[in-house]
Amino acid sequence: MTTTSTEQAIGVDIGGTKIRIGLVDRYGNVAAELAVPSLAKERRVVEQAINGIRNVLKMAEEQGKALHLLGIGVGSAGQIDFASGTVRYANDLLPGYTGTPIRELLEREFSLPVYVDNDVNVLALAEKRFGSGKHSRHMVCIALGTGVGGALLSEGQIVRGATGGAGEIGHMTVDFRGPRCICGNRGCLEMYASGTSIERRMNELLKRGEEAGADAPAVPDARAVFARWRAGDPTAGQVMDEAAAALGAAIASLIHIVNPDTIVIGGGVAESGEDFLAKVREEAERRAMPSMYRHVRIEAASSGNRSGMLGAAQLVFQAPVSHPA
Ligand SMILES: [Zn+2]
Repeated sequence: MTTTSTEQAIGVDIGGTKIRIGLVDRYGNVAAELAVPSLAKERRVVEQAINGIRNVLKMAEEQGKALHLLGIGVGSAGQIDFASGTVRYANDLLPGYTGTPIRELLEREFSLPVYVDNDVNVLALAEKRFGSGKHSRHMVCIALGTGVGGALLSEGQIVRGATGGAGEIGHMTVDFRGPRCICGNRGCLEMYASGTSIERRMNELLKRGEEAGADAPAVPDARAVFARWRAGDPTAGQVMDEAAAALGAAIASLIHIVNPDTIVIGGGVAESGEDFLAKVREEAERRAMPSMYRHVRIEAASSGNRSGMLGAAQLVFQAPVSHPA
């Protein structure tokens, strides 16, 4: 395929509250972009995406930009069947989204090739192309948000597994007798290192303190825990130590199983800062075989809140190798 710098793709990043859409070239230059509410509760996610794509194309046209569209790439929350471009499963953040044939609906609307993948896989593509995973061939990407998501890249390609479910790092056991997880397992990484779990664990400890007579009002979210931790609060320190230990233990296992050159950590929890990452590295180093740990970099994600959109567009530019036959 001959390539010119004017080729573009539409990148669409579908989240529980917001859809970000951009007209992007293969170097990550964004010619036009906008964000629209997902209207997930009203079950209008795909309708919103379609309207948003139309508006982005209109914006580019009005700027007199020559369009050479190769296709549309979508990164979406939920479990995505990449082969068919449908939503295999989505939780209550996106009600009624399960079963949505995103690819079919967008192809019918725009008569362009459409590629749909999950949000962490496209984050990994963005980090590999533009961020902390640049030059990486064997990468593990961990997204610490409401839950814990993961993606694996081997020889630069996303590892999907037999049924497309590879990379569920959040449900890796870090304590085989630990608390029960929504997935049915016990002691999953997600039970310690997600924003939801950090908040829950903090409030458990505060409640215990209150029962013992301390004045300890509950925290509203994980951000409040990070703030208290930075201010030197010992309870928040205990919660963050546990999160870092769980993540370090999981990373040590990933290093042994996958032998990556780079591990990129993104999401809201990773934004708690370099001190958290330092703790995670320390724990992983303590547990991993030195001969393997020596060759891995553990870095924070760097491509920011456009990364989902940029990574989704990369699905299109990668198409000859990543599109299912
Ligand atoms: Zn689980």
